Amino acid sequence: MSTAPVVDFVDAVAVYNGYPALAGVTMQVMRNEIVLLQGPNGAGKSTFLRACAGLVPVVRGSAHVLGCDLVIDRESVRERVGLLGHQNGLFADLTVMENVSFWSTVVGATTAERGAAMQRMAVDGQLANRRISELSAGQKRRCALACLVVRRAELWLLDEPHAGLDAKGRDEIDLIIKEAASAGATVVVASHEIERAKNLATRTVSLVAGQVRDLS
Ligand code: ADP
Repeated sequence: MSTAPVVDFVDAVAVYNGYPALAGVTMQVMRNEIVLLQGPNGAGKSTFLRACAGLVPVVRGSAHVLGCDLVIDRESVRERVGLLGHQNGLFADLTVMENVSFWSTVVGATTAERGAAMQRMAVDGQLANRRISELSAGQKRRCALACLVVRRAELWLLDEPHAGLDAKGRDEIDLIIKEAASAGATVVVASHEIERAKNLATRTVSLVAGQVRDLS
């Protein structure tokens, strides 16, 4: 089994309209870690997660995720990582069932696995046949999580996963994260629910103004 870091950023820079949202980030995440990413609004947490998912280009420094060199190729990594971002990534005109089925088909999940993921996030039953565009924000998030559960990604990138969920949903997220890690996945989670996330995380990394702040 490879001992190379799952995430390996060295002096990585990502820029929006000339502004360095990542201003030279050096961070390694090893397989099976659950890393809590914390920091104030605008610190670059979402940008870091999106860069790891190949959605934001790294224009300087180096960035490898799951062995893929993101400076050269941002496409290959996408099917191997699961990003829960601020946009839910769901097909708005399709139903809950159709969305989860889409990902089940992509990864070859069984009908039972699909059903279990939907039940787990309480988007089964009558909700299953509702279009995404007709759901509440919390229900959409639950559906996005059900999609993530069936995908069994190697690297889970979770941006404020507890946001907008009720107490039961938030507890369920914690269980899902723990289970993903026990199954061998690596998790990076940005959260302002520091106490909750600290209980889950094996390590905390702080970002401030696009750079890693040394906590030691
Ligand atoms: P965080 O997730 O820590 O709140 P972000 O990664 O969202 O921080 O943002 C980092 C910086 O990048 C902020 O200054 C923000 O204004 C800027 N930024 C984020 N997304 C965009 C965007 N789509 N276009 C322009 N600037 C952006």
